[in-house]
Amino acid sequence: MSYPYLFQPIQASGVTLDNRFVMGSMHTNLEELPGGFEQLAAFYVERVRGGVGLIVTGGVSPDGLGVLHRGGCKLTSQDEVEQHRVVTSAVHAEGGRICMQILHSGRYGFHKDIVAPTALRAAISKFEPNELDEAQIEEIIESFVRCAVLAQEAGYDGVEVLGAGGYLISEFLTLCTNKREDKWGGSFENRMRFPLEVVRRIRQATRDDFLIIFRFNGVDLVKDGNTFSENLTFARGLIEAGVSLLNVGIGWHEARVPTVVSRVPRAAWSWVGGRYRAALREVLGDHGVPIIVSGRINTPEDAERIVAEGEADMISMSRPFLADADFVIKAREVRSDEICICVGCNQACLDHYFTQRVASCMVNPFACREHDDNYRISQASTPQKVAVIGAGPAGLSAAVTAAQCGHKVSLFEAAEEVGGQFRLASRVPGKEDFADALRYYQRQIELHDIDLHLGAEVSAAAINALDVEQVIIATGVEPRIPPIEGVEHPKVVDYAQVLSGQVIAGDSVAVIGSGGVGFDVCEYLAESAGEAQSGVQGFLRKWGVDDSLEARGGLRVSEVPETARKLFLLQRKEGLARGVGVTSGWVKNAELEKHGVQMIGGCEYQKIDDDGLHLNTAEGPRVLAVDTIVLCAGQDARAMAFEGLEAAYTVIGGALEPDKLDAVRAIAQGAEAALSLGRSLLMNQLN
Ligand code: NAP
Ligand code: SF4
Repeated sequence: MSYPYLFQPIQASGVTLDNRFVMGSMHTNLEELPGGFEQLAAFYVERVRGGVGLIVTGGVSPDGLGVLHRGGCKLTSQDEVEQHRVVTSAVHAEGGRICMQILHSGRYGFHKDIVAPTALRAAISKFEPNELDEAQIEEIIESFVRCAVLAQEAGYDGVEVLGAGGYLISEFLTLCTNKREDKWGGSFENRMRFPLEVVRRIRQATRDDFLIIFRFNGVDLVKDGNTFSENLTFARGLIEAGVSLLNVGIGWHEARVPTVVSRVPRAAWSWVGGRYRAALREVLGDHGVPIIVSGRINTPEDAERIVAEGEADMISMSRPFLADADFVIKAREVRSDEICICVGCNQACLDHYFTQRVASCMVNPFACREHDDNYRISQASTPQKVAVIGAGPAGLSAAVTAAQCGHKVSLFEAAEEVGGQFRLASRVPGKEDFADALRYYQRQIELHDIDLHLGAEVSAAAINALDVEQVIIATGVEPRIPPIEGVEHPKVVDYAQVLSGQVIAGDSVAVIGSGGVGFDVCEYLAESAGEAQSGVQGFLRKWGVDDSLEARGGLRVSEVPETARKLFLLQRKEGLARGVGVTSGWVKNAELEKHGVQMIGGCEYQKIDDDGLHLNTAEGPRVLAVDTIVLCAGQDARAMAFEGLEAAYTVIGGALEPDKLDAVRAIAQGAEAALSLGRSLLMNQLN
C-alpha cells in the first residue's frame, strides 16, 4: 500500500515540510552524558537519513528551576548555544529540520526547588512546589522568550512549547492546580494568560518563519481538568498569538488512564485531535494551522488513515523512530512490511529514561548507540558460515543481524514457527503487536536469504555436518516446575500451555508466581472469559474516558464487564504483587483490580490434590478449590547437549541467563553476538 496523504508536503509559517511525519519529543538521557550532544546529533542524523521531515528534541528548560532533574538540559545563555549547534548543524547537513522543545517542569521536576502557580504537591511527586509570585511569573515568561531566541541563534528551525502533560503550563491552565486569585488564575481567560503571553512574545522576538509548535492537552484525564470548549478557546487564542502548528497531547503524567503503553489500542487518541481540527476549521476555515496528533500510532497504515480521514494534518511519533530509524523511507518506498515496529513496551525507552539510564529500544538495540562504531551494521570483510540455534527474540536478533552483516546464516527452531517467548507474549491482551515484531524478523529472514529450519531439534552432529565457523546458541527457556507436592496433578499446567491455547483453563484458576508472566496470564484468563470489550470504544469505557469530551478532564465512571473466571494471583513474598515496568506496572495492577483478581502474598505452597491448592498464609491454612493451577514460577534454561560441537560457539539470551529473563537484554545480546562474528570476541568458546 502506498501512502499518498503522508507524503504530501505541507506549509507552516511559510515553511514547506516534505511529509506529514514529525519525530516527537523524546528524552534519551544522551544529552546529559559527556559528549552527549555529539551522540544526540548522531541519533538524530540517522532519523533524518531515514526520511523524518521534522524533529522535535527532548525537553529543554528555559531556566534553572524548570529542569526535570538537577543538572538537566537547559538553554539559558550564549555558552549553551554552542552545544546545541552541534545538533542543529548535523541535522541541517543532512537536509533535516529540527525544533527544540521548551519544557518547564513546574511541579513535576524531580528536585526540591520546583515551582507552580499554586503550592499543591502532585500525586506523583515527593516535593511540594513553591508558589510563584507575579514577578517570578513575568521572569519565567521572559525566560521562555530568551530560550526561544537562543534556540533560533543555535540554528533550530523552531521551538515546541510544551503546554501539556501536567507541566508548568498545564498547571496554569487548569483549575485543579491553579487556585490563584490574581490575573493568572480564576477564570479561564486568566488561566490561559501565561501560555498566551509566552507564545505572543516568542512570536514577536523571532523570525516569521521560525516555527512555533504548541503542544496543548486535548484532554487532561485528571479530575477538574479542562473542558473541550475551554481547550478550543485556548487553541484559537494560540493561533491568534502566532503558533505555526498545534500538537494535541493526551493526559497528564499523573492521570490514571494509560495513554501510550501497549495496553492502549493503536491510534486510540487520534479522534481527540480530529474533534479540535473539525471545530477549528468550522470557525477559521483555512486560516487555522496544521494539527498534529500522536499516541500509540506505530504503523504507516494508521498514520495514513488519520490524515486521510481528516483527524490530523501531521502525525507525531517518537518511540516508532527508536524502533526503526528508516520508518519513513520504508513507508515511502512501499516497504512497510520491513518496518521494525514499536510494540509499546516502554522497557528500554521510557523505563530507562525514568531510571536515569540511556534510552534504547527493546526491538532495536542500535537505538541511541549510533555514535558507537562497534555497534553498527556493516558488511563483514570475511563473511562466515553461521548457525543460530533457537528462533526466539535472541536467536532472531542474532540471525538477522548476522545476515545483515553479510554472513551466511542457518537458523534452527524446534517449534513449527519462529518467535519463542514473543509468540506467547503476542497472545496476551495488549501485546498483539509482538506478532508484528515477529513479522519484521520473518521478512528479514526472507530478504537476507537466511536458511530457516523449523520443527526440528538439531543435534551437534547435524551442525558439525554443516561445516559452519560459528554457532550461536539461543535455545531459550522452559517454564520452571516448582517442587510442590502434587505438581504433576492434571489440573496443573504451565503458562506456555495456557498462552499457546494448548490448554483451556477452568472457571476458577490459581496462578502461582506474580512476575510479569503471572500478570500477563491473569489478564489473558480474565479477558478470554469475560465479555469482549475490545477496540478503542471498549478501552475508553473501561478506563472511564468521556468521548464527548464535555466532562471536566474528559473523565466519567468506568465500565468494566464482569469477568466470568475467578482468579487468584499468588506469591511467596509478603505483600501484594506489583506489575513490572516503571511506566507500565501501575496499568497492570489497575487491570487486575478491574477484573477482580484476588492477590495473596506470603503463600507457602503445601500441596496440590483433587481439592485444589493447599496453602499456608499469614491468616492460616487455606485451600483454593480451583479447577486449574497455572505455573508462572519463572524459567529454567532449556537444556541442550552440545558437547560434540566442533565450531566455536556462544550462548545468549534465556539459555545463558534464564533468571529475570529480559527481552531487552536478549535481543541486544543477539545483535552483539552477531556483530562480534569474525572479530574473535565470542563468549564461551569451546575451542
Ligand atoms: P519472574 O519475574 O522471575 O517471576 C517469577 C515468579 O515466580 C515470582 O513472582 C516468584 O515469586 C515466583 N517463583 C519463583 N520461583 C518459584 C518457585 N520455586 N516456587 C514458586 N514460585 C516461584 O519470572 P516471569 O514472571 O516468568 O517473567 C520473566 C521475565 O520476563 C521477568 O524478567 C519479567 O520482568 C519479564 N516480563 C516482563 C513483562 C512486562 O510486561 N514488562 C511481562 C512478562 C515478563 P515468589 O518467589 O515471591 O513466589
Ligand atoms: Fe517501543 Fe518498546 Fe522500543 Fe520503547 S522499547 S521504542 S516501547 S519497542
